[in-house]
Amino acid sequence: MNGAGETTYQLVRILCLAAAIAIGLAMERWRPHARLRPAWRTNLGLWAVDSVAMATVCGACGWIVAAWAASAGLGLLTWAGAGTALAVGVGVLGLDAVSYAWHRANHRLPLLWRFHQVHHGDESFHVTTALRFHPGELLLALPVRLAAIVLLGVPPAGVLVFESIFGVANLLEHGNFDLPRRVEPMVRRLFVTPSLHRGHHASDWRELDTNFGTVFSFWDRVAGTFRASAPDRRVTTGLPDRSTRDATTLSAWLVLPFERSRRPLH
Ligand SMILES: [Zn+2]
Repeated sequence: MNGAGETTYQLVRILCLAAAIAIGLAMERWRPHARLRPAWRTNLGLWAVDSVAMATVCGACGWIVAAWAASAGLGLLTWAGAGTALAVGVGVLGLDAVSYAWHRANHRLPLLWRFHQVHHGDESFHVTTALRFHPGELLLALPVRLAAIVLLGVPPAGVLVFESIFGVANLLEHGNFDLPRRVEPMVRRLFVTPSLHRGHHASDWRELDTNFGTVFSFWDRVAGTFRASAPDRRVTTGLPDRSTRDATTLSAWLVLPFERSRRPLH
């Protein structure tokens, strides 16, 4: 194992995350979309729990598994003899496509939705919503991503580039800000913007099941789940049934997926 590589991997991810949070918060001050009261405590509390859970399970798993697969000669890109640049590019595209499919599965399968609804339960769509995931959702997603890395044969550098871009995109698209009207159409042609992802957090089942992408917007276009909306359109965000409004503490959100269903599941 490459200890220095793992340290670099972790450091770059943390730096990208910090930069994206700073840019997102600055954009929220510069071009705010709506007045809201962010759920700081719940969102940052879940982030802290997630950070401990993931560091305990395997903080640099993606890098380690990619390095192992490369040394064992595993994966489609390795078998195809792809050069590093091509493998990194295809790897980023492939892992984002897997993330799109996994996100759709989170909405489709009741067991996965139990955990994913914690993310959608934020009624204030804000940069910190990007940090609000139940640790169970992240732990369930981990083997899927690791399997994709091995199957595709994504090199460690590809995993690092993907994780960095994915982390930044995730943070910024949850921002409570609007891109300038002339910039929005150009950016959303390729990337997921806050206005596109805000629609995904709408408290309406039909709109909630659109715009599943995280980095690139074209997966939704290809699969027919793309839904355009004007950046300045007001969207009510949160869960459609609103029955989680009584979940006001961090512990309430943590036990929510394990409760007997007393409300309609997706
Ligand atoms: Zn979702």
